[in-house]
Amino acid sequence: MRPLIAGNWKMHGTLREAASLAEAVRAGAAGLSVDLLVCPPFPYIHLVAAAMLGQPMAVGAQDCHAAAKGAHTGDISAPMLRDVGATHVILGHSERRADHGETDAAVRAKAEAALAVGLVPVVCVGETEAQRLAGEAEAVVRRQLAESLPDSFAGIIAYEPVWAIGTGRTPTEADIAAIHATIREALVARFGASGQATRILYGGSMKPGNAKAILALPHVDGGLVGGASLVAADFLAIAQAA
Ligand code: 13P
Repeated sequence: MRPLIAGNWKMHGTLREAASLAEAVRAGAAGLSVDLLVCPPFPYIHLVAAAMLGQPMAVGAQDCHAAAKGAHTGDISAPMLRDVGATHVILGHSERRADHGETDAAVRAKAEAALAVGLVPVVCVGETEAQRLAGEAEAVVRRQLAESLPDSFAGIIAYEPVWAIGTGRTPTEADIAAIHATIREALVARFGASGQATRILYGGSMKPGNAKAILALPHVDGGLVGGASLVAADFLAIAQAA
């Protein structure tokens, strides 16, 4: 499977910085044999998407509302994201699950809204440190997959252990491989051949220094990169490692 390296810019940067980061990634992307995706904050999506028009680089959002429109002050719909040039949307990131109380059912409804307008959902799953220490990582991820994914799912999964995000800590290669194998098995059991073809990204303190080893593991089909995606050279080094 052709790897996908995705950058989640989270709530960082200015308009000017977003433009120059996107341009630096675009300029460095020539000749790479991976797919690239960048997910800027909402206000910068249109600018970045316009700059990437015709380039082999996709632009995504970090969330959307489950409704197509309506009285939802401060929210952004999936059709709006399409309208400004996004093709992907990250859903159910652990920061949204924690900061905004997003449940699996809410994530599923958002994924349905995204798919309805042709946006590719990137659905995030992953255990907390307490859950891992209790031996529950696999069960947590299985439950999140079962309940966060719509019955007809044409999207991407990102495995992001919560305790590895922004901490510089990562699971062992064996632990990453084990969870990715679990995810693959669950996807194939539910979706058959399309589950076999679904990309499973790893996210959580992915850096140029550890990317090659992680991306070489079975069923690791790319990365969802936070901090390191804010530095074009680091993001491109991870893409080169894929
Ligand atoms: P870091 O790469 O900063 O750990 O963030 C990972 C992440 O949350 C990507 O969505």
